[in-house]
Amino acid sequence: MSKKRAPRALTTTLALLLAGLSGYSVVANWQQGTLVREVAAAGSDTDAYQKAAFELTTEIGLLQGAMLEPDGEERADLLATNQAANNAMERMASVDEEHHGSAVDLAERHAKLRMVVVGFLNQVDRGDTGAAETTLEEILEPEYSSMMKDLLNEQNHHVSDYDQQQADSLNESRKSGVTVLIVFLLGLVVLGGFAASRRGHRRQVEAMAATDPLTGLLNRTAFVSRTAQALDDRPTVLVINVDGFRDVNEQLGHRVGDLLLVETGRRLSSLVRGDDVVARLGGDEFAVLLHDADPAIGETIAARLTETFDRSFTMDEITVDLEVSIGAATAREGEDVVTVLRHADAAMHEAKSHHAGFHRYQGEDKQDAAARLLLLGDLRRALDDPDQLTLHYQPKVAVGSGALVGVEALARWTHPERGPISPAEFIPVLEVTNLMHKFTERVLTTALRQARAWLDAGHRVPIAVNVSARSLLDPNFPDRVAALLSEIGVPGDLLSIEVTEYALMSDPDTAIEALHRLNAAGVKASIDDYGTGYSSMTYLKVLPIAELKIDRSFVLDMAGDSSSRALVASTVELGHRLGLTVVAEGVEDEAAAQALREIGCDTAQGYHFDRPLSADALTSRLESRLLIV
Ligand code: C2E
Ligand code: MG
Ligand code: MG
Repeated sequence: MSKKRAPRALTTTLALLLAGLSGYSVVANWQQGTLVREVAAAGSDTDAYQKAAFELTTEIGLLQGAMLEPDGEERADLLATNQAANNAMERMASVDEEHHGSAVDLAERHAKLRMVVVGFLNQVDRGDTGAAETTLEEILEPEYSSMMKDLLNEQNHHVSDYDQQQADSLNESRKSGVTVLIVFLLGLVVLGGFAASRRGHRRQVEAMAATDPLTGLLNRTAFVSRTAQALDDRPTVLVINVDGFRDVNEQLGHRVGDLLLVETGRRLSSLVRGDDVVARLGGDEFAVLLHDADPAIGETIAARLTETFDRSFTMDEITVDLEVSIGAATAREGEDVVTVLRHADAAMHEAKSHHAGFHRYQGEDKQDAAARLLLLGDLRRALDDPDQLTLHYQPKVAVGSGALVGVEALARWTHPERGPISPAEFIPVLEVTNLMHKFTERVLTTALRQARAWLDAGHRVPIAVNVSARSLLDPNFPDRVAALLSEIGVPGDLLSIEVTEYALMSDPDTAIEALHRLNAAGVKASIDDYGTGYSSMTYLKVLPIAELKIDRSFVLDMAGDSSSRALVASTVELGHRLGLTVVAEGVEDEAAAQALREIGCDTAQGYHFDRPLSADALTSRLESRLLIV
């Protein structure tokens, strides 16, 4: 808060100072004008100079105002003042025969500057403050300053031609000229201060957008962009997870949890070289970008990291011993940043599940490839077996009232020998084959039949179905959805689809067209796992979506972690501004639910409310009215 207040206070002070100076200058000029008119009789045209000087001073004040409040209000005033200054200068040129040449020259210089002023205003309107500042500092400011000096020079020449009778007036006029110059120069000094404070403020805002407020490290977005920039050098990415952090948070409190994260960040930073990058990806997950092309460096650093965690953490007189799980992946030719991070993340999970401390992503070996083929064969058979592949339905509830607002259909596969296999394991295998189309069709059919069955039983339950990139980008997909809706007899507004940022960004034009066609059938879309990919704001504005689902990694530790909470709050605000409903995924406890109520999030989903339930289990909830639709 205080960081935010400081530049605002400074800006306000500067603005008031400028307003004061301009006000003073107005009064001084007006008094001077009156004096000149009184003392010097008809024929004295000193006031033309005064007027020009006054208009120039006002103009620079308004230019400053346009930067301060770029809402377009200054535009009309500024252009009118510029015109008034032009008129005054022309009059000045026409009345002063002796110094005609210079006065005309001044008037012309000022007229030419109008184009620059208009350009500057356009830059301000476009929000291009960097360019506007440069125009102001490098062209407008010096030119106005020099014109003002020349103008006052002109004026002095002019008044010195007056006879003795006008001596008093001359004296006053000089004084006033000096006053106006001083006021003007002071204005420029203030302007310089203002520009510096703006630059400082902008840097601060930029830094805030790129850093994690708790640890001061880079955040996920900044880390993704730094990794993307380094891809050509085949960097190694380490993903580090603090084992047992959630227990610390729950048992010792969030303050200790926060201190632990700060200390972890400090230890990580102390181990890497200057050009390596340390970031906090969210929650208890950190990442390091190693620029060194030698993949073995990852092992070395990981070993050093593991060692530093052998030292206990002491916070608030509490001593905690923790371990970390580290995954490493080195970028290979043609790989994008999402893939490299996914590999490092998978390696970290591998290390964690085997309590190995460290695991390097090796790529797919022959054994993996064989296992994958086997799994695909099994999936092919499963698709024809109604018992193996089923759907569970997880309630989505209104944050305020707890009322059911819909369900998300989640695929469940019970393998005849291996038992339940997580969608997180088999969806990626399907995703790279055309079998995905059959799978999506199967899921949609099952979900819509269920929606119809609930309708027949008197329950209107909106269902969301996850749709992979491959299916969304299939040109036949929207028509298939429309056909299924009418075959099964479900209104389009009872169905929505969840797509990831990745699916939308991999081919935005096709994705947008598909979403429009679905919208035409009444089917709305949500962005799933929002925050984990890199969607651009521009797309968010143009995408025909109705809902944002904030990824559970942000929601899980929101109650204890102020930066996750801030991220969730700003996403909710962003979503609302764009007219979208915002859903928080992964709400596991009352603290998170309470935080979401305070933030004003619309909808929640997570174990705290309900786990994914079988259709029968959900039906009995509906019947016993434990859920309100
Ligand atoms: P998702 O769409 O983000 O689904 C939410 C996942 O979070 C589900 O995992 C759900 O069980 C889990 N979850 C719900 N509440 C909580 C909570 O409070 N805490 C935690 N830790 N987890 C929670 P699930 O069912 O394993 O699905 C994983 C992912 O697999 C889904 O993520 C979705 O991307 C994909 N998936 C599932 N079913 C389908 C499907 O039919 N088609 C496609 N294309 N993808 C699917
Ligand atoms: Mg989903
Ligand atoms: Mg999700």
